[in-house]
Amino acid sequence: MGKLDQYVPIVGQPVVDDLRLLARKLSGKVIQNVNSTPVGGGVAEILNRIVPLLRDIGVDARWDVIKGGAQFFEVTKKFHNVLHGKKDEVTAYDYDIFNATSRENIDAVSTYGDIVFVHDPQPIELIEKKADNKWIWRCHIDVSTPDHEVWAFLRRFIDRYDAAVFSAPSFSPELPIRQFLITPSIDPLSDKNKELPPEVIDAVFAKYGVPTDKPIVTQISRFDRLKDPLGVVAAYKKVKRYSDCRLILAGGTAADDPEGAEVLAEVREEAKGDPDIHILLLPQNDIEVNALQRGSAVVMQKSLKEGFGLTVSEALWKGKPVIASHVGGIPLQIAHKYSGLLCFSVDGAAFALKQLLNNPRFAKKLGENGREHVRTNFLITRHLKDYMLLFLSLYHAGDVIKL
Ligand code: UDP
Repeated sequence: MGKLDQYVPIVGQPVVDDLRLLARKLSGKVIQNVNSTPVGGGVAEILNRIVPLLRDIGVDARWDVIKGGAQFFEVTKKFHNVLHGKKDEVTAYDYDIFNATSRENIDAVSTYGDIVFVHDPQPIELIEKKADNKWIWRCHIDVSTPDHEVWAFLRRFIDRYDAAVFSAPSFSPELPIRQFLITPSIDPLSDKNKELPPEVIDAVFAKYGVPTDKPIVTQISRFDRLKDPLGVVAAYKKVKRYSDCRLILAGGTAADDPEGAEVLAEVREEAKGDPDIHILLLPQNDIEVNALQRGSAVVMQKSLKEGFGLTVSEALWKGKPVIASHVGGIPLQIAHKYSGLLCFSVDGAAFALKQLLNNPRFAKKLGENGREHVRTNFLITRHLKDYMLLFLSLYHAGDVIKL
């Protein structure tokens, strides 16, 4: 029995059969993924699951990671922020650093794939190595209101790719190359998302010294301003006066995110003096994230900007009621008052939180609907199918792919 068969009880046999059929069509092709970090953040999360599964069904998928120093990742973080619409000055020196590290990677990274699948801006200049193979640029960022200068800089490279992939229709800009809309996904069988026995969940809460005496409200995210952890604390404080609860803000740091320590210090300052706020610095440990999500009464994702927001799908899959901002790919996952609650502000988040804490039946229904929505739309099996169709389509410009 292959790994893929284990998904049959979750998504059904026909879905799995389709994937095998598509995989056969790709036999002999090497799909080379390239990104900038092996762990931390949504991109690494997805590649860690999708690459082995593609290999399991016979697609020769591989994954390479570019290298960069602290300065390079400070620049790429700045790119990330201003592409998301945040105001910041990107200097000529920043571009020099980006170009210099890119040149080192152009020399160091072999682009052997029949299809080179480049994720996000960090490795984008590798396109200089384009030969007669196919190149895809996968954008995980919400670039609906990007900084024009940085976007223009990136366009010099993007336009040379064969295709670009975005996560939501609203992100997709005008481009002279083919574009595909593919939402990310979660893996229901990964340590992050699989069912856990209650004793495992209890042990994680005990490990972090979080009592389970009151409803627990949790946001799990990198400590990043765009995830708005301070907004979560503010919303919690508004609600706490009326509905007793605990707040967990948990997160680790990603190798390509230098801002984390600063934001963490700000959050600690804001939480000072309240023993019911638990700030947890997590090691990279999927079981712990899973347990924290499962042990929560409500999961929040109060991002100011978001690519897709995998944490939302993760929580919905666990049947949790989720309160999340109406940004990026989150509205694709949450239909307001049906599969979760959307908010636009701290007040909105607080209102939603009060509503869910006071009405557990409503909260439960939202969680159930959310789980079914994720089953249909955001599981890895759907993602595999979209990616394989994308790969095949590169060899069929506009015509029908015969299966
Ligand atoms: N995550 C994690 N540990 C942490 C914080 C986040 O494993 O301490 C995971 C989280 O469960 C999710 C991913 O990292 O799978 C974050 O993806 P998302 O799309 O939510 O945000 P990104 O970090 O890519 O902006």
